[in-house]
Amino acid sequence: MDFDVLIRGGTVIDGSGQPGRPADVGIVGERVVAVDRIEGATAATILEAAGRVVTPGFIDVHVHSEIALLGEDHRYGGLLQGVTTHLTAPDGFGWAPLPPGPARALWGATRFAYGDASEAELSFDWPTAQAYLGTFRGRTPANVVPQVPHCAVRLAVMGWEPRPATPADIAAMEGIVREWMEAGAVSLCLGLEYQPSAAAETAELVALSRIARAYDGLYAAHIRQRALGLPGAWRETMEIGRQADIPVHISHSFVNDMTEPLLEEAARTCDLTLESYLYPAGCTHLVLMLPQWAQAGGPEAMRARLRDPAVRARVVAAMDATLAEGQAQGARGVFAATTSGRYIGLSVQEAAATTGLPPGEFAVRTLEDEAYTLLVFHHGGTEAEHRDITARTIRHPRMLVASDGIYHGAQPHPRGYGCFSRVFRLAVRELGAVTLEEAVHKMTAAPAARFRIPERGLLAPGYAADVVVFAPDTVADRSTWEQPYLEPVGVDCVLVNGQVVVERGRPTGRLPGRVVRRKGS
Ligand SMILES: [Zn+2]
Repeated sequence: MDFDVLIRGGTVIDGSGQPGRPADVGIVGERVVAVDRIEGATAATILEAAGRVVTPGFIDVHVHSEIALLGEDHRYGGLLQGVTTHLTAPDGFGWAPLPPGPARALWGATRFAYGDASEAELSFDWPTAQAYLGTFRGRTPANVVPQVPHCAVRLAVMGWEPRPATPADIAAMEGIVREWMEAGAVSLCLGLEYQPSAAAETAELVALSRIARAYDGLYAAHIRQRALGLPGAWRETMEIGRQADIPVHISHSFVNDMTEPLLEEAARTCDLTLESYLYPAGCTHLVLMLPQWAQAGGPEAMRARLRDPAVRARVVAAMDATLAEGQAQGARGVFAATTSGRYIGLSVQEAAATTGLPPGEFAVRTLEDEAYTLLVFHHGGTEAEHRDITARTIRHPRMLVASDGIYHGAQPHPRGYGCFSRVFRLAVRELGAVTLEEAVHKMTAAPAARFRIPERGLLAPGYAADVVVFAPDTVADRSTWEQPYLEPVGVDCVLVNGQVVVERGRPTGRLPGRVVRRKGS
């Protein structure tokens, strides 16, 4: 037998951005060993790919999938699109190396992104970064790549205290960042609008970035747009890049009239990339609509604050103002998940109307009543404006595709099941904004190089056999705002480490994923 798997007769798009070419792909064990015209070879498994393209597995650098990968419910949301490698700790969310009590408390604050995760049977017994990564052994169909979860780093040293770090705090946090980098993390990851990370000052972020930098890591951040404004938040990121001499990466952003000049500024002063999922809506919890001072100190502090009638009245007024401002701009927050199951599919204003309460009062009461909420925040704007921004964003050479997928709740954002397939349908076929090869590059070799992920992102001999076979003319997302869990079409076959995990568009149940550590670690 020449190969374990032979993918025959397709057009190979190798991830480098170079034009596709007819070639067969031979795999032995976990590796690609041949990408060429292969005549008369034998293989245990032969996959016919005539009329299909064959690409490296996609790498999602920002996705809330790590818990879903361990359980049954939405384990395959990314894989069905061809995403074979998922980064952990998006927005700095993560729970190691916290003791079980604080880990559970932080889990409570991140449940809006992960749900109850009963399928995953989490132990919360992760005293080290390595212990957490061990959770994935033999349990995941896709690969996971660790990032340093800043929320856990800060909580481990400072608890929920919303104050600047002292030199001693920073020294202790540096030790934890070092532990994660030693465990193979590719970047220091931040969610600077979420507690407890929101209290971190620039100096803390620079100090921790210097540790990540010493390991050739990256700084990846959900930036503090609400607190500093978009230009201010971008400039803080650039400043961290300069001071720590570290490459920086901005999560879930767009190229538009406001960010294009900032990208030009960044090109002169630091090394910056951004990622986008390219839908005209975001997705997060209702808490983020509160002013930062009301969120400070985490969920318990927020609830305690709301028990003071005078403070509560201020919060209601602020919420009313935020809702009215959004409405004036055509924006709309729609409930995706609540612990009670109420209000799904309704906007905040529509849900308020069902209770007879004014919107601000309703929203604050919902924060008091529900353990967590998840909303899809539609940006507003016209279809034409969205298409224009989509084209400008995907064309930008510093842009990577990443889904920010969330895999729980009644009606979460459709990006979780649709992002990558939608890029092929919308950006490549309908808008003609980039070629198929360019789109694949932004999902494979570009993120692998940027995030220092070894042996992935190219379809070439010696690389890991993470492979996607799809139909370039029909591949498309089907997930919608109303039905976000509809699987894409046109993705025939997905291999992870040489094993078929998706066949004829259906999961096979195999779990060949592994923890992939930073290049050189
Ligand atoms: Zn985020």
